[in-house]
Amino acid sequence: MFGKILIANRGEIALRVLRACKELGIATVAVHSTADADAMHVKLADESVCIGPPAARDSYLNIPALLAACEITGAEAVHPGYGFLSENARFAEILIDHGVTFIGPKPEHIRIMGDKIEAKKTAKKLGIPCVPGSEGGVSTDEEAASVARDIGFPVLIKAAAGGGGRGMKVARSPEELSSALSTARSEARANFGDDAVYIERYLGTPRHIEIQVFGDGKGNAVHLGERDCSLQRRHQKVLEEAPSPVITPEQRAQIGETVAKAMRDMKYLGAGTIEFLYENGEFFFIEMNTRIQVEHPVTEAITGFDLIREQIRVAAGEALSFTQDDVVLKGHAIECRVNAENARTFRPSPGKLNYWHVPGGFGVRVDSAVYQGYSIPPFYDSMIGKLIIHGRDRNECLARLRRALDEFVVEGIETTLPLFRELVMNDDIKRGAYDIHWLEQFLADGEPGS
Ligand code: ADP
Repeated sequence: MFGKILIANRGEIALRVLRACKELGIATVAVHSTADADAMHVKLADESVCIGPPAARDSYLNIPALLAACEITGAEAVHPGYGFLSENARFAEILIDHGVTFIGPKPEHIRIMGDKIEAKKTAKKLGIPCVPGSEGGVSTDEEAASVARDIGFPVLIKAAAGGGGRGMKVARSPEELSSALSTARSEARANFGDDAVYIERYLGTPRHIEIQVFGDGKGNAVHLGERDCSLQRRHQKVLEEAPSPVITPEQRAQIGETVAKAMRDMKYLGAGTIEFLYENGEFFFIEMNTRIQVEHPVTEAITGFDLIREQIRVAAGEALSFTQDDVVLKGHAIECRVNAENARTFRPSPGKLNYWHVPGGFGVRVDSAVYQGYSIPPFYDSMIGKLIIHGRDRNECLARLRRALDEFVVEGIETTLPLFRELVMNDDIKRGAYDIHWLEQFLADGEPGS
């Protein structure tokens, strides 16, 4: 096992990794920008290193500064968290070249899954069901028209290098295809420096359902069930739950085994998430995330496994601490992402937290790195905490979430808590009847408090 780990991140995930390290008896190194000198992850780590000015590209994305921090402190491994350098294959390779372990998948797997065309080809080869569409990229209008004829309209044109929900264009008819194609290409070139695009059938009312996997890098891999992340705004997840309200144990076992087998065949190492769109009983692969995800605690709640601890163990060459038979889902969990934003306009609201009271009690977990008196800097993601609720079943979970939201008090900044208070009272949410468009429609139709 490692003696010392450097955490190349900030905020709640830096704290989450730090806590797992402490429980494993591993010393921790925090890194921070000058804007984060007062951050909680810096206060709680055994050592800390300032790696640059506020802008992320000069600090949390600054590979030479991170390498130097490893060298100065003697850290043997780096946990990248999510975001920042977590899916940067080059960063993983550079660490490995310098004798530092990257706590994550093999660089070649990060690279394949980072290219959407390659990822889809690989998924298909491994027997994972994909959205019908072009085999690889499309280069001409004729090729696009022929693919669209085969799969039927509407179609979605997606950038190979896309991410964060950007670089997608819908064409609803043959007439729209050529202009959608050229717009998608020029946007992809401008945003990602790569104009490669591919075509998929556009699914009308899917849910976003993803499977958590874990591999030991030697051909052993298991799945930990699904998370339903259909409540999204601008393709950003807002609330996640596990298990999904619409998936049966048989469907879970089947898609889970398909994915776990694919990971065994790849000899995948560490934590990963296979994202699917789900419509009319069918799963369609959209992408794989080769890192831990924001919403991992709902899986922790219903499985009882510490996923960060597991990441560290397998990165150190140890076996997975559980087998597929050990994965028994218990109860229901829901996570709300609490952002420092106005709950209707979603305008960021950085500033000083004058008052911060978090809920507690049975089945309530708050993962956050802020504290009363702390000033939320304007330079980074606006998520300031995650409220994770566990109950014996979905109804108990919702009742507990309702009372936890009542206890949550934040003053000095605006947060998205009022939105969650509305959502837990909504009949569609209570019934679990929502797709990936539901939240946008709710936000467009509803008035605050209505
Ligand atoms: P990104 O990497 O940009 O997040 P994804 O491929 O994961 O791109 O897709 C992001 C979101 O776009 C999905 O969660 C879904 O809401 C929508 N989407 C992607 N592919 C399709 C499709 N074929 N049909 C309908 N919606 C889609």
